[in-house]
Amino acid sequence: MPPRRPALVERMRPFTSTIFAEITALATRTGAINLGQGFPDTDGPDVLLEAASNAIHGGLNQYPPGPGLPVLREAVAQHQKRFYGLDADPDTEVLVTAGATEAIAATIMALCEPGDEVVTFDPVYDSYAASIALAGAVKRTVTLRWPDFGLDEAELRAAFGPRTRVVLLNTPQNPTGKVFDRAELELIGRLAIEHDAVVVTDEVYEHMVFDDGVHVPIATLPGMAERTVTISSAGKTFSVTGWKVGWLHGPAELVAAARAVKQFLTFVSAGPLQPAVATGLGLDDDFYAGLRDGLQAKRDLLVDGLRAAGFPVSVPGGTYFVIADAAPLGFADGVELCQRLPELVGVAAVPVSVFYSDPSAAPSLVRFAFCKRDEVLHDAVERLGRLSSLV
Ligand code: PMP
Ligand code: GLN
Repeated sequence: MPPRRPALVERMRPFTSTIFAEITALATRTGAINLGQGFPDTDGPDVLLEAASNAIHGGLNQYPPGPGLPVLREAVAQHQKRFYGLDADPDTEVLVTAGATEAIAATIMALCEPGDEVVTFDPVYDSYAASIALAGAVKRTVTLRWPDFGLDEAELRAAFGPRTRVVLLNTPQNPTGKVFDRAELELIGRLAIEHDAVVVTDEVYEHMVFDDGVHVPIATLPGMAERTVTISSAGKTFSVTGWKVGWLHGPAELVAAARAVKQFLTFVSAGPLQPAVATGLGLDDDFYAGLRDGLQAKRDLLVDGLRAAGFPVSVPGGTYFVIADAAPLGFADGVELCQRLPELVGVAAVPVSVFYSDPSAAPSLVRFAFCKRDEVLHDAVERLGRLSSLV
């Protein structure tokens, strides 16, 4: 027999499974409370669900237009104006995608030649490295460290070079909950301009910023709109992660580039869900304030519970994730703890080291999601409270 070539191309071999799928499978197998994969355990607003159902029963079941239904592109443009004062031409500067995941992949593949460099911030959302690898581009990492996850200017500068093509930013950031502040964004913007790089910014948690924090889209900084692609998704804001309706907004040339790739990834998707998401984007301020306040209360519940259970915690300024350190409880290895936690106390969480290129940057950190009903979070913290007596 001649030697068989492995089926999977080399550049994708590091990405054969995702930590979220692994932990959710473990949680399902053991019946544990799943605070691992980030998805809400309640549905989004009724008006959205009804609008989707009406669209399906109303015959909106064939291919939507390639860039997305006009009603949704218009709603995205209005959302950008209403919340951030950003202007977007719905015909040329907005593209509807199959979730933020496709928006990220299509943009990176559209913008990067093989060998071009993409600056990212570790710990980094898992699809970024895979999208960069698909494009044949090279990831350059800036490391954010527990407990503040502050940005080191020298390290950021050092990540830029003559091949820098894209800065791939995520604010508010998964998994740290870090909300990049204006000064940090100005620095990133200055370096992007200096190196003539495009900023691709994943803002899927834009409406989940707590306390006195503000979400600053980097596109609102002077000189940045013309070199920024801003990405978001209905999954987070409207608690419909299974719908996979996302979008991107940016200058026409960058949007056209992403559209060229997107049309051969999925062409189009989720036709009847698109008008429902447009309805959601138009919901009043009470909806958005309720989302934020509700999640902030859940954050506090989980943070207090984790602290009472003996975990030091980095209090997140945004997102629906919180990172805790398991080392003081005797778990130096977060991966091992996350494998054992379901059987030990019936709770599932995600190790943070998998989001770092260098896992030794955060060996004992674990991420918990708090986008769950209060009774589920109460149950989870009670269970976690038993951990210290078991070790
Ligand atoms: N970016 C980040 C930072 C995320 O946390 C998620 C949610 N899993 C995504 C992108 C993907 O979003 P979507 O489900 O819309 O593809
Ligand atoms: N974004 C979600 C999280 O961080 C999971 C998405 C996924 O499973 N790919 O938990």
